[in-house]
Amino acid sequence: MKNLKIGTIASHSALNILSGAKAEGITSVLYCKADRESFYRQWNVADEIITLDSYAELFDLDTSEVIMIPHGSFVAYLPIDRLVKSDIKLFGSKKLLEWESDRKLKDQLMKTAKLPVPKEFDSWEDVDRPVIIKYYGAEGGKGYFVAQNRDEIKQKADFSRKFSIQEYIVGTKVYVTFFQSYLYERTELFGADIRYETDIDAKLRFTADPTFTIVGNIPVVLRESLLIPYQKMAENFVAAAESLLNERIPGPFCLESIIDRNLNIYVFEFSGRIVAGTNVMIPSSPYSYIFHGEHMWMGRRIAREIKQANERGLLEELIS
Ligand code: ATP
Repeated sequence: MKNLKIGTIASHSALNILSGAKAEGITSVLYCKADRESFYRQWNVADEIITLDSYAELFDLDTSEVIMIPHGSFVAYLPIDRLVKSDIKLFGSKKLLEWESDRKLKDQLMKTAKLPVPKEFDSWEDVDRPVIIKYYGAEGGKGYFVAQNRDEIKQKADFSRKFSIQEYIVGTKVYVTFFQSYLYERTELFGADIRYETDIDAKLRFTADPTFTIVGNIPVVLRESLLIPYQKMAENFVAAAESLLNERIPGPFCLESIIDRNLNIYVFEFSGRIVAGTNVMIPSSPYSYIFHGEHMWMGRRIAREIKQANERGLLEELIS
């Protein structure tokens, strides 16, 4: 593409993405609601800011020169079924985002990748340990609750809604982010963070029914021996996704896990896109710095892959 631009919408990890495009000398465009415009303008990282009344207007704009970078708010604001059918060019796999948004497909991919997932119970009557109840379609863990036993599920669950029942893992929530590069044929371990959620992470537990509302992310460096199983899991994840989706999955993805007291790792979720936890990795995470020998944050890594693919005439292979 001759007049290549990188675009995203004004939320989540937009500053990360835009500053990465700037560092790699790629023109950027930010799609923004009017009330956020002055906030984003003051950072001076977007070459162009286009204001919209609704993000759905993006479907009607000419974005043929723009490679969009999806992030958590991007997929929350733009319905995935419309996104898949639209002409919007995404860096990465739209199919992977589709699979991520469907709990059944997501489980299938995680099982095919042989990720160590927490035990799932088909029926509440089989529950024999503390569990977490996850309502389908809930965002950010809204309405999830922890139950010690069957009685508590019976008492608290809204049986008119669909939910999954998962073993509750006591441990540390570690989110490990990778970058899948097809230019270099490698799965780069990029960085790790811990998610801080209220009320579940509050030290004073006066609340009987704690919530899982994310407040922010904290950088973490893992015990080095733990990096090896995560790398293996990530490579298995890429292989499973490529075979099930029948396409490549370029770009960032995250394995969302809990490590228990015996150092067992349980992966309860994945994200097939940049995650907000990478915002703590600007200008680098320890791992991305060692890997690249220079400051490398996720927005920059994305922009660099796009730039190099464009120079080599391979960009079409990395977008969907
Ligand atoms: P998001 O939109 O943030 O990805 P979500 O709706 O997909 O959220 P999850 O990420 O699955 O929800 O879970 C939200 C939170 O619930 C996690 O961050 C974690 O604190 C907790 N959680 C999820 N599964 C488990 C589990 N098996 N054991 C213990 N805690 C869990």
